[in-house]
Amino acid sequence: MGAGMIPFAVQRFFYYAFKKGTARMFGCIFCQVAAGEKPAARVYEDDLCVAFDDIHPRAPVHVLVVPRRHVASLNQGAEDEALLGRLLRAAAEVAKKKGIDGSGYRVVVNTNGEGGQTVFHLHLHVMGGRFMKWPPG
Ligand code: AMP
Ligand code: ZN
Repeated sequence: MGAGMIPFAVQRFFYYAFKKGTARMFGCIFCQVAAGEKPAARVYEDDLCVAFDDIHPRAPVHVLVVPRRHVASLNQGAEDEALLGRLLRAAAEVAKKKGIDGSGYRVVVNTNGEGGQTVFHLHLHVMGGRFMKWPPG
């Protein structure tokens, strides 16, 4: 049986499953941003991560730092110390680029339901440009 016998939708399913991974297949927003398939105002990028402005900023500076590979949350990413180190380093780089390294900023990783996570692709919020209250809500 040739490839022509297999319906296009089925071919597409397997193409995404094997070539791009299930997260991309089911439309993970941050995988799409990292791959350049969805537009975003990029602030910083390297071989492991990408940083871009949050689409709904909660502070004058609000940037998200995400790994290029799909990691659902900090729970799944915790063992990859090289990646976590790079994400924090990128956050500091973002703060410097945005000019808030001296005035101060906050780095937040919301995790799962009670942590307030809404997008299930690990991301660091880098927030600043105003006084950050403590404790957060
Ligand atoms: P969290 O609630 O911690 O999971 O944060 C998700 C963040 O992603 C929110 O601050 C959203 O405003 C932001 N966000 C969602 N979609 C996009 C997008 N396409 N580009 C940039 N930021 C986004
Ligand atoms: Zn993803």
